[in-house]
Amino acid sequence: MPSDLITRPLWREQHPRPHRQPGQAPSTVDFAVIGAGYTGLNAAREIAAAGASVVVLDSGPVGAGASSVNGGMVNVGLKAATAKVHKMFGPVMGREFWDGALSSIDLVEDLVTEHGIDCSFVRGGAAQLGYHHRDLPRFAALAEWYHRHLDFACTVLGPDRVGEVIDSPRFHCALVDTVGAGLHPARYVDGLARVAEAAGAQLMEHTAALQVARHTAGYTVLTDRGKIDAGAVILATNGYTGDQPFKPLRRRVIPIGSYIVATEPLPADQAERLIPGNRMMWTARRFLNYFRRTPDDRILMGGRNNLSTDLDLRESAGILGRVITEVFPEMAITPITHSWTGRLGVTFDLMPHIGRIDGVWYALGYSGHGVGIATLVGTELGRLVTGKLDRSPYQEIPHPTRPYYRGEPWFLPVAARWYRLLDRLGR
Ligand SMILES: Cc1cc2nc3c(=O)[nH]c(=O)nc-3n(C[C@H](O)[C@H](O)[C@H](O)COP(=O)(O)OP(=O)(O)OC[C@H]3O[C@@H](n4cnc5c(N)ncnc54)[C@H](O)[C@@H]3O)c2cc1C
Repeated sequence: MPSDLITRPLWREQHPRPHRQPGQAPSTVDFAVIGAGYTGLNAAREIAAAGASVVVLDSGPVGAGASSVNGGMVNVGLKAATAKVHKMFGPVMGREFWDGALSSIDLVEDLVTEHGIDCSFVRGGAAQLGYHHRDLPRFAALAEWYHRHLDFACTVLGPDRVGEVIDSPRFHCALVDTVGAGLHPARYVDGLARVAEAAGAQLMEHTAALQVARHTAGYTVLTDRGKIDAGAVILATNGYTGDQPFKPLRRRVIPIGSYIVATEPLPADQAERLIPGNRMMWTARRFLNYFRRTPDDRILMGGRNNLSTDLDLRESAGILGRVITEVFPEMAITPITHSWTGRLGVTFDLMPHIGRIDGVWYALGYSGHGVGIATLVGTELGRLVTGKLDRSPYQEIPHPTRPYYRGEPWFLPVAARWYRLLDRLGR
């Protein structure tokens, strides 16, 4: 690893946080939203647009969580496999989740276009890549299922055509769609913050919520910068959900680490040859890798490593660097410049959820698939609480936890070993 490896997100280096005056905590608001990522900011935009007063608190700056550090891939579906979602909730609701997920990509595009958010949004499509010959019939069956049940077209590329989407000796086949998109996450989240503020939301960065207490007329949110009385409270803390300010939510979401590296920029013709058409890519494995070209033509490679949230970033750079070389052998000499991490909020059913505990609203659980979906779910939650929407499927499904889980994911090392074994066996 180069000694000058930068262990901060590339995205933030390219787009420093805009300066925002540290506002005074309001004494009373209609809504207090905790968490200034895609979920909280979109909820706040809708609430403010409906004419209610709303403050968004974050213990760090806007996008301090996953929303400014992710891979920026806006892909179809949910984290849970689409056929499984149909099986779990039936064809009608399954279809509703699918349509919603597709519309979330349009929603991102509409927000970006309408509000002039300069975040390199590009719809080049996406490809799932198979390492083995056994992936080919699986992809073919999946494409047929998508066509039959959802009238959604994807193309299966076998060994003779996989080179159309990637110049790599490693892959045997691909399942390709034309709908997936990519963006620059830090620019996107800062754009959303600007839009929420313009709609009338107050943002309070560097303000940690310490406690939420219910009383007869609403809630008191105790923060490290004062006390706020709120008619309603929304928790939008996803993978950063902790004991504070509201412990009961911890049992509903598991924090899992996701890690990314980026290389030096490549010459444009080399980048276009390696990933023609600028598609978003991921591998067909439980321990998948996701990768793409950045807007300045670096290769960004991400993965879960060992699922933990505290892997050393140099060690992570070593692991993900080997994946880059495996996929693109010619990149063995291309330096990795950045290595960083963030937390996913994973649920036991891999579904996002909108819910209420003791009257406190929450929305979370994108399980690593949240750029589009958190935008959608945050928007839906903002509409629900202001009466503009009377239902959301994310609110109607049960939100499972487990008796053995109290917020400390002690079982992750065992799960990691099990998933790796299944990957090795091709199951
Ligand atoms: C490395 C990585 C790569 C990813 N890649 C992709 C991708 O390519 N495509 C995709 O679709 N999804 C991806 N994801 C997932 C996606 O980034 C998330 O689903 C999405 O950003 C979640 O947004 P959010 O607003 O719900 O949560 P977050 O953006 O995580 O925001 C939660 C916020 O809550 C704040 N907070 C927590 N507790 C408190 C408190 N007590 N007081 C005040 N504030 C608090 C935190 O500071 C944080 O800012 C990735 C995630 C990671 C980590």
